[in-house]
Amino acid sequence: MSHQLFGKKMRTLKLKWQLFPSYIIILICAMSAVSWYGTHSLKKFYIEQIGSFLEAQSALILSQVTELAGTENFTELESFCRETGKKVSTRITVVMFDGEVVCDSDQDTGTMQNHANRPEIIQALSGKVGTSQRFSTTTRQQMLYVAIPINGMHAIAGVLRTSVPLTAIEAELHSLYFRIAIGIIIVIIFASGMTLFMARKISKPLEQMKHDSLRFANGDFREKILVAGSEEIVGLAQAMNRMALQLDERMRAVLGKSNELETVLSSMTEGVIAVDLDEKVLYMNGAAQKQLDIVHGVQDKRLPEVVRNIELLRFIQYTISQDEQTEKTIVFHLGKKDERILQVHGAQLFETKMRRIGALVVINDVSRLLRLENLRRDLVANVSHELKTPITSIKGYVETLLDEAGEHPQHLKDFLEIIGKQTNRLHAIVEDLLSLAEIEQKSDGRELIFLEKGRVIDVLHAAIEACSLKAADHNVQISLHCDEKIQTMINSPLLEQAVINLLDNAIKYSKPEGTVQIDTDTKGKEILISIKDSGLGIGSRHLDRLFERFYVVDKGRSRESGGTGLGLAIVKHIVQAHGGKVAVESELNKGSIFTIHLPRI
Ligand code: ADP
Repeated sequence: MSHQLFGKKMRTLKLKWQLFPSYIIILICAMSAVSWYGTHSLKKFYIEQIGSFLEAQSALILSQVTELAGTENFTELESFCRETGKKVSTRITVVMFDGEVVCDSDQDTGTMQNHANRPEIIQALSGKVGTSQRFSTTTRQQMLYVAIPINGMHAIAGVLRTSVPLTAIEAELHSLYFRIAIGIIIVIIFASGMTLFMARKISKPLEQMKHDSLRFANGDFREKILVAGSEEIVGLAQAMNRMALQLDERMRAVLGKSNELETVLSSMTEGVIAVDLDEKVLYMNGAAQKQLDIVHGVQDKRLPEVVRNIELLRFIQYTISQDEQTEKTIVFHLGKKDERILQVHGAQLFETKMRRIGALVVINDVSRLLRLENLRRDLVANVSHELKTPITSIKGYVETLLDEAGEHPQHLKDFLEIIGKQTNRLHAIVEDLLSLAEIEQKSDGRELIFLEKGRVIDVLHAAIEACSLKAADHNVQISLHCDEKIQTMINSPLLEQAVINLLDNAIKYSKPEGTVQIDTDTKGKEILISIKDSGLGIGSRHLDRLFERFYVVDKGRSRESGGTGLGLAIVKHIVQAHGGKVAVESELNKGSIFTIHLPRI
């Protein structure tokens, strides 16, 4: 296995494979050296012992040999040497001072060369004990020679040499070498086992620590490192445990903080985006993703990859380049018609050492607020406008009456009638506005309207009854088709009001002798109440805006019939407060169908 460390390749070996070969090599070297030294000393000791033995033997027979050699009785000397040599298993040679071999216990002297140049002979002739160890050309084996001088009358007369072959010692030493080699092999095998065992004993806790430290690295601090071993290893394990404990505490603290932060940021209704200097997303909370319609993951992507709004991207680039906080209102288009108005606040992100690292943007969706603001503005304008006409009219007539008080009694009556009519209109508008405000407040979530289980047919009957007079006036027939069993969660007075408004319109805009048909039906999870007339109908271009406040198709006609333009707005809000919706289908001069959709139980 190889590891990349600081750019260099590092070969790693298991500890046991590092220890094992070096131990074995050291062991082989040490044992070889000891064996070599031991056998060498032993061999030397053996040879010295044999040398002393030969010297002692020579000393024992020296007087006899000196005597026989002195009388030059070589035949007797020969037989003496042969006899003695046989007895003590030693080769005995007698050499004269000129190197001539005069007798040999093992060999025929006639075949032997002059021995004057033999080192032991040279030493002995100089008066010392001569020893030599060499290969004998005569006996053809490795021999040990010991030579002592034979003293004549005046000088050295010759040399008595005793010798033994070293073959036996060599054989003995060879068998010793063999036994030592076997011993070394056994010791090496045993030592290998021991080394492996020891290496494993050292590496096992290290392996365990490696495994545990990897666990620590993965953030799992539940278990401590528990190892038995040398003091150093146990000390290391304890130090690592302490380190893990501190790391765990710190990580918990950091995680806790980041979790708190994440909870706060993700539960914010404002969108939060943090980007680095390259516009890479560092963080984006759920609200921001929702506001910007982002469905895929954004982490580590660049903002232009996930946000398509050029204005916002430019704003973020601008914020990164600035030193101050920034602010902008951005229109975010969702579809062809739908748009979101986002108010964005930007600030630069700094690291602890005030190094700029990116930008932080907080997004507020102000569409609803703006819409409400617009509605409020429109409403004030519409209400003022609607109220202005009757008030101006009343004011005019009142002033005229004041100027001409009592002059024309007929005028007085006419004018007062007009004032009365305009006052009624004012009253109708104010009434409608009040009920609209009330329903709106309830359906806006500030207060829930009270709903209870009730039969739809009862509501419809009540509404028909309320409109019966008007229907009779307009000579309009009302027919009802409703299953008595149809029930749902309703607020009867409010729903009745809505049906009355629709019925009232249907009668108003019906042709004389016309019919208004009320049908109920259940479809899927809805109950449908439809009010159908065969009257004037409404042009398709008006249908979209029909349910807006004060929206009227034909101002003159509407005013004449006492309409305020608020009736359908009230219907819409009542139905919405029931959790339903209202729809219209209409064709000019053919009639209209208004349908209330209520949720079924
Ligand atoms: P209004 O009080 O003036 O009737 P509404 O909000 O009830 O106000 O109706 C708005 C406009 O819708 C009316 O001015 C009218 O022109 C048109 N409208 C409503 N219902 C019908 C209908 N059944 N047939 C034709 N036009 C209708």
